[in-house]
Amino acid sequence: MKLENKIAFVTGASSGMGHAIALKFAAEGATVIAVARRKEKLDALVAEASGLAGKIVAKSGDVADFAGITKVLDDSFAEFGKIDILVNNAGVMDEMMPVAECSDELWEKVLDTNLKGPFVICRRWLNGQLENGGGVIINTASIGGIQGARAGASYTASKFGIVGLTKNIAFMYAQKGIRCNAIAPGGVATEIAVGLKSPSKFGSERASSGMGANPRYGSADEIAGVALFLASDDSSFVNGAVITADGGWSAY
Ligand code: NAP
Repeated sequence: MKLENKIAFVTGASSGMGHAIALKFAAEGATVIAVARRKEKLDALVAEASGLAGKIVAKSGDVADFAGITKVLDDSFAEFGKIDILVNNAGVMDEMMPVAECSDELWEKVLDTNLKGPFVICRRWLNGQLENGGGVIINTASIGGIQGARAGASYTASKFGIVGLTKNIAFMYAQKGIRCNAIAPGGVATEIAVGLKSPSKFGSERASSGMGANPRYGSADEIAGVALFLASDDSSFVNGAVITADGGWSAY
């Protein structure tokens, strides 16, 4: 088992990639603190993990409630003494809004969830885990964080931001036992598109210009496999990397 005796903290674990990452880590022996807003979905995940080598513990948390999510980390450090692996995976889409159509409210919601939340979580985590000898951060970015128009303006800015945050942490703390990497998924079948309520027609048309080049959609479990690699010692020399997992879409 690759994650025996490890404690992991995974945000956005109630569905999609976070759900798959939590299960994969628990199968490899980790105790996984699974965080999201929908507690009933997390409770179902805890039940799903019974019989695995590790276990899943559910904690309600909103990553855009900065004081609240800091308290969830405080409580987790108090309960477990350490958090070896932090996965900043929670994220929301942005209705494909280009700048001219993007409200302040939408911009703030997307940036708070996708970028400021991970920053606040990383800060609290580093201030607990540096004195424990280090650990691993995995941030879920997107190919929208390395290419300009796979989504609207706020999502794109948030994911470029998380790539920058990843590389900054990676270099700053490289000699302190910390590794920080990002995964940049392409199209993955999850609940994320369900959240689209009234997407911009213009933005959607522009953002889908390259859809014909996408070889296929991926599964959440395929992303969880990349997360396991980054969480384990198999990637001990990988730091500050953004690993694209998109079936070759962005290679075109
Ligand atoms: P998903 O199925 O919609 O899962 C998103 C998760 O984030 C849910 O568990 C949701 O839980 C959680 N979440 C959202 N806002 C939150 C908040 N304020 N506080 C706490 N948790 C919150 O989507 P997914 O595709 O797995 O997304 C996971 C990550 O992958 C995101 O960062 C997304 O940007 C990224 N990504 C997705 C794709 C794709 O094609 N699917 C491609 C590239 C990158 P609750 O609603 O219960 O809080």
